Amino acid sequence: MFRTLRGRIFLNGLAILILGLGIAGFFFWRAVEAMYVQTEAENLLAQAELTAAAYNNNNQPLPAVPAESYSQVSNVMPGIHTRLLGTEGTVLIGLPLASDSPAVQMPPAEGNALITPDELSKRPEIQSARNGIAATFVRTVTAGNRRVLYAAAPIRDASGEVSGLAYLAMPLPGNGLPAGFTLQLVGAGLVAVILALAVGFLLARQITTPVSALAKGASNVSHGDLTQTVSVNSQIDELDNLADTFNYMVASLQKSNQAQNAFVADVAHELRTPLTVIKGTIETLEDGAMDDLAGRGPLLESMQKETDRLIRLVNNLLVLTRADAGMLKLHLQPLNLTDLVRQRCDRLLPLAIGRNITFDIQSANHSLVRADEDRLAQVLDNLLDNAIRYSPEGGKIIITITPDGSNWCCAVSDSGPGIPPEHLPFIFDRFYRVETSRRRQGGEAGLGLSIARSLIQAQGGLILAENTPGGGATFVIRLPASDDCPEAAGLLTSN
Ligand code: ADP
Repeated sequence: MFRTLRGRIFLNGLAILILGLGIAGFFFWRAVEAMYVQTEAENLLAQAELTAAAYNNNNQPLPAVPAESYSQVSNVMPGIHTRLLGTEGTVLIGLPLASDSPAVQMPPAEGNALITPDELSKRPEIQSARNGIAATFVRTVTAGNRRVLYAAAPIRDASGEVSGLAYLAMPLPGNGLPAGFTLQLVGAGLVAVILALAVGFLLARQITTPVSALAKGASNVSHGDLTQTVSVNSQIDELDNLADTFNYMVASLQKSNQAQNAFVADVAHELRTPLTVIKGTIETLEDGAMDDLAGRGPLLESMQKETDRLIRLVNNLLVLTRADAGMLKLHLQPLNLTDLVRQRCDRLLPLAIGRNITFDIQSANHSLVRADEDRLAQVLDNLLDNAIRYSPEGGKIIITITPDGSNWCCAVSDSGPGIPPEHLPFIFDRFYRVETSRRRQGGEAGLGLSIARSLIQAQGGLILAENTPGGGATFVIRLPASDDCPEAAGLLTSN
């Protein structure tokens, strides 16, 4: 119970509730009690004034002294205790008088509870009444350890002088409020607690149900079930967002799982072709071709070609996985992009000349980028090789190098057929080839562009492909300019 989320929320809520109710209840109780005492004081004062009025102007003559001393003890008994006092604080009449209502006898005065007239006349309410102003006072009577409310009102003779006092006393309830009142307050408090507990329970359930669903989903995913989605509609933004994020994460895992499976399948497929060729060749050689000096040459050559292809494939895969893991060793340095492009074009010139294709390099003078020379050369080779491969005989490849803010862009446009628009979004995916047939125009396993993207991204740049409006495909590389590079002048040269 204490270790569960629901238990914790519930107990925390309960603790806050008890504390809140306790504090609020305390102040509420005090306020109600003060109101109650004030109302009772006003009532008692009115009664005292009424009693005094009965004796005003000697309507009824005040009895003559000697009189009794004031006894506190009777004041703690329930009801209103009325006395008539002389101005000196002596008790002239204790009401109810035994003769008026024989059933209500005053308890005998106790020695320690007797107040002398002198002490009595020092009481503030009595002093106020002697000065002609009716007053009330609350004090605790030690004899019964009870709070008693007092009200004193002046009695005036015909000349208007204060000739005596009506002095009323009434015990207040032991716990500050009458029992009925207390019961109602406690009842209301209990109802509030029960309601708050019910609401707290519902709230705790509202929070814990989605959390439990998420925990179950996560457990299923950890056991390999990637079809899990959690449906949460808790009306709590954070929990709903968490569920959405969880579902998104599962979908991503599913996608990456599928991609990984597809990758492994593609790798296996690409490996199988050269291995089958090599195996077939070995079998042919074993069947006697080995002894045929003239015939074994092409066989060995084909084996060599397939082995080279295998090595290239494995190397490419190595580059990709290293780039994925962020483990590519790069030697980033200021590099003149134009110079490198010229160098790569020169290297591929024999291939281009063979198909009567020309290069047109349009470039600004100081195209300094921050890049790894070998890796950038590998990317340029791939783009230029593709451009030559896809351009028709006598075609033209235009390479434009332009500044772009704090970057340099290198666009390679060919005069080939371009890339069908539906294939454009996937052109950089691994093993992706537009041609469905395996008999492509040369080329590799569909890894060239994905390697190019990985290498360019590892160098802090980006690469994209588009179709040139006039026909042909354009591949654009964007790389950060080197810090040593003065802002490009934008002057284009052509060769
Ligand atoms: P590969 O290494 O097998 O050539 P790439 O990753 O370099 O694969 O290219 C992937 C696909 O993109 C190719 O199959 C080809 O269809 C398409 N492609 C690449 N370059 C061009 C281009 N210049 N013009 C038209 N299509 C291209």
